[in-house]
Amino acid sequence: MLSCGKQERMRIKIASVGEAVLRSTARPLSNEEIGSARIRDLIVHMRETLSDAPGVGLAAPQVGEPLQLAIIEDKADYQKTFTPTELKERGRVPVRFHVLINPEIELLSSPDVTFFEGCLSLPGFVGMVPRARKVRVKALNEIGEPIRIDAEGWYARILQHEIDHLAGGLYIDRMWTRSFCSLDNYTRHWKSKSTQDLLREFDPVRDNRSASK
Ligand code: ZN
Repeated sequence: MLSCGKQERMRIKIASVGEAVLRSTARPLSNEEIGSARIRDLIVHMRETLSDAPGVGLAAPQVGEPLQLAIIEDKADYQKTFTPTELKERGRVPVRFHVLINPEIELLSSPDVTFFEGCLSLPGFVGMVPRARKVRVKALNEIGEPIRIDAEGWYARILQHEIDHLAGGLYIDRMWTRSFCSLDNYTRHWKSKSTQDLLREFDPVRDNRSASK
């Protein structure tokens, strides 16, 4: 009967900044754990949580599990609020859902691309974070197969953000601190500004230069 077929979607509570799990170093998953029912269920629930939030990436410590596991999905739908120019500047293209287990990241360029970035563990805030344009990630997928990802642009940013979580890192550790602002104020004052204007306003190197004059 249709009325009895109610399927419970499982949304997990997302840990917010100040909870110790977000600052702990996540432990790698063993071969036995990968593909186990517990980890399979965790991935399903994390995917539902990410989609509900919504967000483009979620790391296991964010749902209270200090494990080297993260998921990523940047849906085309999420990119509709950006202009073609903004998408091009960010190198942002849709990324299909996928799972990273025990990832290792290598930055293939210096962290010199800076945009506003947010995190589901710091809801309602954003800050400008310099990131490498290109990265290489080696990891295992959800069935334990080795995968290698060469990414650039916004996808490279998401990978850096999620893999930071697995080492107890948050974007606020890397951001230009003076750019930190509430999402409301970002929308009100900064969202419509050009990238050049934002760099001029918040780049700490430029700031030091003008302060020393
Ligand atoms: Zn995050």
